Amino acid sequence: MRKKFVLGNWKMNKTVKESIEAVNELVELLKDYEGEYIWGIAPPFTSLFAVSSSKGKVRFLLGAQNCHHEKTGPYTGEVSPLMLYDIGVDFVILGHSERRIHFGETDALISRKVRAVLDFGMIPVLCVGERLEEREGGATFEVVKAQLSGSLALIEPNLISSVVIAYEPIWAIGTGRTATPKTAQEVHQFIRETLVGMGADASEVSVIYGGSVKPDNIRELTEMSDIDGVLVGGASLKPESFANIIHFAK
Ligand code: PEP
Repeated sequence: MRKKFVLGNWKMNKTVKESIEAVNELVELLKDYEGEYIWGIAPPFTSLFAVSSSKGKVRFLLGAQNCHHEKTGPYTGEVSPLMLYDIGVDFVILGHSERRIHFGETDALISRKVRAVLDFGMIPVLCVGERLEEREGGATFEVVKAQLSGSLALIEPNLISSVVIAYEPIWAIGTGRTATPKTAQEVHQFIRETLVGMGADASEVSVIYGGSVKPDNIRELTEMSDIDGVLVGGASLKPESFANIIHFAK
């Protein structure tokens, strides 16, 4: 049975104090949660260590938003997978469209990062998704397929099910414009078929959706058979709305 996730991406938001306050609130709001979703949050690097001490209170996953692919070395300003593993990080978001667009990350680079995160026993959350003009030009499947094969190029087929794939259409990120459940389902199904073509046991791969997910659209999205959860940006910043997303996920 593949796992289901609700993961929050705080991006470049929250000081250490604000992060601790938000996590404490989440822990309180979710302490009695018994649903099937595993929830987690990815605070900025500066808050990770402080937040990791809350992990014992209720079960949640701690995530980072990026990492380097080498363990140590002369890479000024970078954070390594060893460092993240060392402080109890469980998952790492990789290949987010904001990293691809603003920092020039390529599929080849992302593939090295996926490899490194897996090698440290953490969960890579690999983001793929098309731009608006690619969708409008009918290129969605082609773009997503190229991102999957490029970003998983260094991963053995039997390890692909250890990667969580996040389908995040770029036109839906931070825009308030969500993919309809049907549109998202179509791409999720395509992702699963593509992974089968790559030799993976795709029935075991969790494929989650990201793009303007909110408490009022989570239910219809998670009713779709190939949507195994969500990656949430803006709506994860407020503990109450994030907790509601987790509670309302079907
Ligand atoms: C994201 O950036 O991963 C994301 C899904 O953002 P939002 O929920 O704000 O669209």
